[in-house]
Amino acid sequence: MQCSKCRRDAVVQQRYSGLRLCETHFLEDVERKVKRRLRKEIKLRSGNTLAVALSGGKDSSVLLYVLCGIFGRRRDINIVAITVDEGIAGYRPKYVRQAKKLAAELSVDLFLFSFKAVFGATLDEIVRAAGLDDELRDKAPCTFCGVLRKTLLNRVGRELGVAAIATAHNLDDEAQTILMNYIRGDIARLLRAPARSEKFVPRVKPLRDVPEEEVALYGMLRGLKVEFEECPYKRLSFRFKILSWLNDFERRHPGTRYSILRGFERLVQDERRHFEPKSCERCGEPCAGNICQACRLLSKININYAP
Ligand code: SF4
Repeated sequence: MQCSKCRRDAVVQQRYSGLRLCETHFLEDVERKVKRRLRKEIKLRSGNTLAVALSGGKDSSVLLYVLCGIFGRRRDINIVAITVDEGIAGYRPKYVRQAKKLAAELSVDLFLFSFKAVFGATLDEIVRAAGLDDELRDKAPCTFCGVLRKTLLNRVGRELGVAAIATAHNLDDEAQTILMNYIRGDIARLLRAPARSEKFVPRVKPLRDVPEEEVALYGMLRGLKVEFEECPYKRLSFRFKILSWLNDFERRHPGTRYSILRGFERLVQDERRHFEPKSCERCGEPCAGNICQACRLLSKININYAP
């Protein structure tokens, strides 16, 4: 199988684009997609700091590596990493070690925070306290994990004074999120965005146009240590059910993930609804209503979060 752009051997066949790419052209293709997405989502100015949410997994490792490549020669843009240890025994410690190692190799300052220190409980403790028997959808570990991580990243990013936080959501993550909200009839959640405010640190998703398997391939070709171990809670999530279905659909109809993302982006262009953030009555963090989602969830297991 030859590269569609040169005569070298191809390392990937992109069924959605009809292209076959050799290693050089594939790496270029991923980096081009990241740069294009960055240009679309954020304008960094001289002196800005960009924080990367670094879990130590393949997506965030690739993200940090690519961003260091893009901004490495610019001395006026500083890149830092923020690692969140949710407290998932047997899983997260290995990734935290991996994150520290990569940050050191790339000479990036890493700031490590844990759920235990900030919220008073590890995710494992929260899951035990919440129970999983009833209302699984609302009490699933990923719901707690996602909401609390987002709250923590925003708070830390604000305290560090970063211009934006880059998260490693890839094309699959984004297509899954859009579908999940469609299925739940909660499209309003996707259209809602905070108005520009000092309380919310802007978030960017530079890997949004890169399929998950290509993120993994990029990581391997660049010699990054790519772990494939799955979080023990992943299979309990609603996202996991969507993921299997979407993967099957993508196999039969290449390009489905891009169609979902592009269709949604067209919708958002016209319908985005900005809201003025309020301060949560309990913890003071910014939110759309009176109580933020983190406090709402934590109160279900009798934890009062007061930073
Ligand atoms: Fe958290 Fe769910 Fe991801 Fe595990 S799979 S790290 S619980 S969001």
